[in-house]
Amino acid sequence: MRLKSIEMQGFKSFADKIYLDFNPGITAIVGPNGSGKSNISDAIRWVMGEQSIKSLRGSKMEDVIFSGTEARKALGFAEVTLVLDNSDQYFSLDFPEITVTRRVYRSGEGEYYINKTLCRLKDIHELFMDTGLGRDGYSIIGQGKIDSILSTKSEDRRQIFEEAAGISKYKYRKIEAERKLVQTTDNLTRVEDILGELE
Ligand code: ATP
Repeated sequence: MRLKSIEMQGFKSFADKIYLDFNPGITAIVGPNGSGKSNISDAIRWVMGEQSIKSLRGSKMEDVIFSGTEARKALGFAEVTLVLDNSDQYFSLDFPEITVTRRVYRSGEGEYYINKTLCRLKDIHELFMDTGLGRDGYSIIGQGKIDSILSTKSEDRRQIFEEAAGISKYKYRKIEAERKLVQTTDNLTRVEDILGELE
């Protein structure tokens, strides 16, 4: 699995549609202060489902949309697409390439797509689970992240190791299964109540 490219429009300082290709090997992004280098890593985290606007260096979700300059008016939406190489079947989807897209409008509405098919945030979350990518992944180490990892509680640090060891998925499935079990037990109780009334 490899990040092949990013396409974005209207995200933070990137008003026009831009394409960034990541060829095999190391890619370094250089530029003057304030030119948008960190906005690129923000875009990557955002498209993978980041919900915390604070960690995207904003105060409200609308802050990810191009807010205009003296020469150019603000845009009404932001869209980012990641193209991931899946020729090694790293993701359990039968496609050689996976695209993940997120779009948000100023109204606050937004959508996610996997391979251009509308999906839920939950699907994005599950796609990246145990890959080290994604919302809670460790593959993007931002400024201050090492300090925060070292100073967090041991249970929180354990989460990072669980993600790396690939067991987050099983913990998540266990919680989902327990939730469904509670729901089913509730339904069963309701059916028994109705049956009791009918008898
Ligand atoms: P440094 O080297 O100082 O860390 P950088 O290259 O990482 O800088 P960024 O922090 O990515 O720069 O970009 C900051 C720029 O993005 C600022 O000029 C800011 O005005 C602009 N910016 C952030 N959000 C928006 C937005 N919603 N609309 C327009 N411009 C934005």
